[in-house]
Amino acid sequence: MKAIIIGIPGVGKTTVLKEASKQLPKYETVNFGTKMLETAKKREIVEDRDQIRKLSPEKTKKLQKETAKKMKKKKKLLIDTHLAIETPKGIVPGIPKWVAEKIKPDRIILIEAEPNEIRSRRKKDKTRKRSDFTLPPEQHQKLNRYYAASISTITGAVIKIIKNKPNKSKKAGKELVKTMKE
Ligand code: AMP
Ligand code: MG
Repeated sequence: MKAIIIGIPGVGKTTVLKEASKQLPKYETVNFGTKMLETAKKREIVEDRDQIRKLSPEKTKKLQKETAKKMKKKKKLLIDTHLAIETPKGIVPGIPKWVAEKIKPDRIILIEAEPNEIRSRRKKDKTRKRSDFTLPPEQHQKLNRYYAASISTITGAVIKIIKNKPNKSKKAGKELVKTMKE
């Protein structure tokens, strides 16, 4: 089974994924942004992951296609990625149709959290450059649900919404595991 794991920056997605992957030893976790970054760095078009969303939509499309191709043959995957990427040109879809058709996800897992919790986590995280974000967390999370619904319709993937409450990332991880069991 393959799942795309979605959560806006600051939601705690990486932590939840870490918890879940311990209990899913047969699964490989891949970060879509990291794979894109590896290719983009080779071409010297970006230096860090927060520059990926500054690329033109056309360059992004190309990178997405190449990245998705690498995931086509894998059977058991948890893909850490985004559905609505805020860029200077507008909102770019993280999983457009042709990417969805390559990946063929069985699950779309939306990790959500309280907007104020997200705001305070972002403030604490000094490792990332996120000052360009203008979409408030509540709107961004809503937008993700719309994108998830359209991918679900195209692929038949099941949508699972998981709340990541403060100090409850283990519980969220368990829920993720449960939805992956066949
Ligand atoms: P992350 O560290 O998960 O926030 O990912 C870093 C960056 O990778 C994001 O800010 C996006 O610019 C980019 N990224 C991740 N997934 C996708 C995708 N499916 N399509 C386009 N860009 C993506
Ligand atoms: Mg992350």
